[in-house]
Amino acid sequence: MRSETLPHHLDVDLSAKCNLRCSFCHLSYFTPKDRGEQISLQEFTDHIEPYLDNLKSLTLFSKFEVLTCRDFIPIFNLISGRQIETYFSTNGILLTDDVLDLIVGNLTYLTVSVTGFNREQYLRYMRTDAFDIVEENLTKLNTLKKQRNTEFPKLRISMVGMQSTLESLTDAADFAKKHCAAGGVQMTSLYVFEPGMRKELPAADTARYDRMTRLAVDHAAAIGVPFELQSGTLEDNTAETEKLGHRPCYLPWQRLSIQPNGDVYPCPVSQQPVGNMFDNSLAEIWRGDALSAFRKRVNTVDPDLQNEDCQNCLHCRHHAIQDADANDLSAKETFFAGMTRKVS
Ligand code: SF4
Ligand code: SF4
Repeated sequence: MRSETLPHHLDVDLSAKCNLRCSFCHLSYFTPKDRGEQISLQEFTDHIEPYLDNLKSLTLFSKFEVLTCRDFIPIFNLISGRQIETYFSTNGILLTDDVLDLIVGNLTYLTVSVTGFNREQYLRYMRTDAFDIVEENLTKLNTLKKQRNTEFPKLRISMVGMQSTLESLTDAADFAKKHCAAGGVQMTSLYVFEPGMRKELPAADTARYDRMTRLAVDHAAAIGVPFELQSGTLEDNTAETEKLGHRPCYLPWQRLSIQPNGDVYPCPVSQQPVGNMFDNSLAEIWRGDALSAFRKRVNTVDPDLQNEDCQNCLHCRHHAIQDADANDLSAKETFFAGMTRKVS
């Protein structure tokens, strides 16, 4: 596959921080390479803005909470108004009036991550008593959308699918309906970071996982809510990942993933940078040898020739979910973007 002269899509983590420590999140187990780092308005202007006119889409998060970036508002102002599809995911707690004022009518897609659909469950999984705040912010979002007569941002609710949350999938669909989430529900699949969590994997009880996800999809359809299993059904995922160990993947031909310390990765889940935007321009990195070598080792069927990242692909849309070992990172000392395991 030929890559374009410049990427049409960028994933940019504007901040390497989050205001939460969810029970299932990598941030509860790993420390970011440059903890607390943020992209400033000046850095964004100097190193990323020159590429905006070439972009079709821009994702402003992948591993952290974008709204912890102190320059989020001026940076979004630079992006807003261009012909670019914009997207970010947030836990929704920091959707202040100023942020809502900026994004309503301007942001294309917004995902709000909620695992636990009442105060007690939310506290259990998200580890903070903020369920009511999220509901309040979603109400404000929808009120403003109505006032401005806009469908943007198109809202979606995302939840983590694990054995103990499978019974809440139907609640997720009801929650999405209540909050007018036109994008419905997206269920992301879990990978685990300590042996005690292994029982939560889809692979720990595939029959139950299959049955409960089917029930949820049916319930959502009955109330008119789109419901997406991000990794696909167990059956489809197994068939599609059998040959390579992951689904055929073309992300490194389409996009670059940027961390706030300037490191640039070939995809959002790789662990080795292919350059740093403060040392080389994004154009140089895009056409450089490191990325070219990585691309050659993405879809090869020979597992010995595949990039280590691709052999253990953890991208929700590409990785295999039926293999418990592939989703158990209990023994790993490193994680995405150079994160290292916390010393307990
Ligand atoms: S809100 Fe998202 S990034 Fe933050 S701790 Fe929870 S799962 Fe991790
Ligand atoms: S690690 Fe996964 S998402 Fe990244 S390039 Fe490899 S197969 Fe694609």
